[in-house]
Amino acid sequence: MPELPEVETIRLGLEERLLGALIKTIDLRDQKLTRGQVDLLTIRKFVENNYLVKFGRCGKYLLLFLSNGKILFWHLGMTGKFKISEKYEEIPHLRAYMETDKGYLLYSDIRRFGKVGILDNTSELRKGIDPLGDDYLYERINKLFTSSKAVKIFLLDQEKISGIGNIYADEILWKARMLPNRPTNSLSPDEVKRLFDIVPEVLKEAVKYRGTTISDYRDINFNRGEYSEKLKVYKMEGKPCNECQGIIKKIKLGGRSSYYCPDCQK
Ligand SMILES: [Zn+2]
Repeated sequence: MPELPEVETIRLGLEERLLGALIKTIDLRDQKLTRGQVDLLTIRKFVENNYLVKFGRCGKYLLLFLSNGKILFWHLGMTGKFKISEKYEEIPHLRAYMETDKGYLLYSDIRRFGKVGILDNTSELRKGIDPLGDDYLYERINKLFTSSKAVKIFLLDQEKISGIGNIYADEILWKARMLPNRPTNSLSPDEVKRLFDIVPEVLKEAVKYRGTTISDYRDINFNRGEYSEKLKVYKMEGKPCNECQGIIKKIKLGGRSSYYCPDCQK
């Protein structure tokens, strides 16, 4: 699933190629994309004949700001991918496309968990604090460490901090030297501060390498993300830890696999 660094890489690509483009048409072939919240005619009415004036992001949501003041939001779900092309192309699993005066924006999605809709402003999105945004402040984050939930589950909670998924949660906890099943309210003030600093550090580093490709993720040119080469624990079960040569282990937490180094992480 694309997490914050992958969505940010896509945002940067869209900005580079489509900023200022005039949208001529939009077509959603897969009506499931709107989750029944808005119909295609309404999307067309708000989107067509507008310019793309800004590309934003909130957690894992891409935000396309239109010249009429509306915002088209796009969540890539598990397997959503964009491709920018000079001309219309029947790429596999094409679910939607937009024709602009700077080329076609094609959207493919094998598993169809993507989501599209129209917003008047970004506060309508139910989301937590974006770790690369202006409101990611220690005073705000510090207040969230109150429950006995595992710190890994806490990092995945999109209504607290948004944008982190299974890959980066494991990588962040390895770097912070914390076991994924530590209850959040057991963290010392020093550990909370360390985690607070490491979250954006890991995510920014991953943006620098254009995200992580495990299976599906591709950027707008259909290139793979190179952070896959930098991963320290995710899917490394049985391999030696980069730091201490101990063996990486896997546990199930909240129904999902968590990878960690039992020697480095306490
Ligand atoms: Zn280790």
